[in-house]
Amino acid sequence: MSNPGHLSLLGGGDPRDLISVVDARDRVLRAFAPTSVVSLPLLDALGLVLAEDVIATRDVPPFPNSAMDGFACHALDIASATKHTPVHLGIAQTISAGDEPTATLEPGSAARIMTGAPIPFGADVVVAFERSVVSDDGSGVRIRHAYESGTNMRFAGEDMRAGDIVLRAGKKIRPAEIALLAAIGRTHVDVHRRPVVAILATGDEVVAPGKTPSAGQIWDANSDAIAAMVQQAGGVSVRLGIAKDNAHEIRSRLTSETNIDLILTSGGVSAGDFDLIQEILQEDAKMEFWQVRIKPGRPLAFGSFGGTPLLGLPGNPIAVAVTFLQFARPAIRTMLGETDLSVPTVQARMMDEVENGGRREHYIRVRLTRGAEGFEARLAGSQGAAILTALSNADGLLVIPETMEYVEPGTVLTVELLD
Ligand code: AMP
Ligand code: MG
Repeated sequence: MSNPGHLSLLGGGDPRDLISVVDARDRVLRAFAPTSVVSLPLLDALGLVLAEDVIATRDVPPFPNSAMDGFACHALDIASATKHTPVHLGIAQTISAGDEPTATLEPGSAARIMTGAPIPFGADVVVAFERSVVSDDGSGVRIRHAYESGTNMRFAGEDMRAGDIVLRAGKKIRPAEIALLAAIGRTHVDVHRRPVVAILATGDEVVAPGKTPSAGQIWDANSDAIAAMVQQAGGVSVRLGIAKDNAHEIRSRLTSETNIDLILTSGGVSAGDFDLIQEILQEDAKMEFWQVRIKPGRPLAFGSFGGTPLLGLPGNPIAVAVTFLQFARPAIRTMLGETDLSVPTVQARMMDEVENGGRREHYIRVRLTRGAEGFEARLAGSQGAAILTALSNADGLLVIPETMEYVEPGTVLTVELLD
C-alpha cells in the first residue's frame, strides 16, 4: 500500500468511476478472434464450431427404402381392400436391408421387405407385418386396408439432397451434427481449433495439492478450477504452476510456454504488498483496465504479455469462478468461433434478502427450487469470496444489478445457471 497510485486506483475512490461488467467484457472481447481452422475427426469436433459450409455429396437416403418391416406392394392393387373384402397378393420375393436396389415388383404381388431395404421398382407402399395376414402355406398375404401411395416409405433425398448445404459454418457441433456428418460419409470436419489457455497461480502462501503446506500456507484451489472451467468452455489448458510473489518468477513462468492463446493468472491483482501481476503488466504490456463494478471480483487485470492476451483474475476462488465465467469464458467461446455468447438463465423469485452496497453487479450463489409461481432462489451459503462450499451448493449465480442496493424477498431476478 506504499504506492499512492494504487491507493487511489484500488482502495477507496468512487465506485462509479469503475467500469461496468458489460463494458469490461466488451473491452476484453475486442482482443479475441476465432482461432485457425483445423480438420478434425468427427468425435474430436464435438462441442466445437464448424468452420465450413458442409455440402452433401449424395442423396440421403440414397434410394427409396422401407420405413417398416412389412410387405411392399402397389397401392393401386389394394385400393379396394377392406376388412370384409381383403385383397390377396402372392409373395414374390424377400428384400433385406443391404440388398442392392435392383428388384422389380410385378402388379398383383408383394415383396417381404425389411426396414431400410430398397423398395422394389413399381412398388409404392409398404404394409406393416402387423397389418397383414400371411396365408397358412406362406405363399401369399391378405391386406385388409387401402393405403395411400408412399405410406411407410422413405424417399431418396427426402432428408438431404446431393449438392445441398446441410450445415453452415458457425454451427456448434452436437451429437446431432455428428450423426448428420457421418450420414453423409464424413470422417473429418473443419472447425476452429481449441484455444490453448495457460494458467498461472501466484502467491507465497499457495502450494499445489499433493505437497505438504507449511503453517500459513494453503492448497492451490484456483489452478485446477480454472483448468476445469477452461476445459468445459472448450479450451485446452496448459499449467504454468504456482509462482511466488516475485516479479522474476512470475515473468519466467509466463515465458515458459509458447503458442498460447490466452494467459489466465490468479491472485496478485489487489492492493496487497506483493501484488505484482499489475506491475509486470504495466512494464511488459499494455494495461486495459484494473477495476470492474463486479462482486466478487473487483480487482481484475487485462492486457497482454509478450503479445498474448492476459487476464489477471483475483485470488479468492469464488471471485475466480465469477470473473472466469463473465470474462474468460466468453473470450474462449469467441476464439472457438461462437457468436452467440449467451448463457442459460432462468428468472427466479429471490426468497432471501440481500444487501448490495457499493454499486456493483453482485453475483449471489443460490440454490433453485420450483415453487408454485416458478423458480425460487435461496442463498446457497455464506457469500464470502472464499467460501467454496456455497459455490458447490449453488445451482446458479443470481445477478443483482448494480443499481439495486437491496433485494427485498420476493424480487424476481435473473439466475445464470452453473450447469
Ligand atoms: P490476492 O489477490 O493474491 O491477494 O489473493 C486474495 C486471496 O485469495 C488471498 O486470501 C489468497 O490467499 C487467496 N488465494 C490466492 N490464490 C489462491 C489459490 N490459488 N487458491 C486458493 N486461494 C488463493
Ligand atoms: Mg496473492
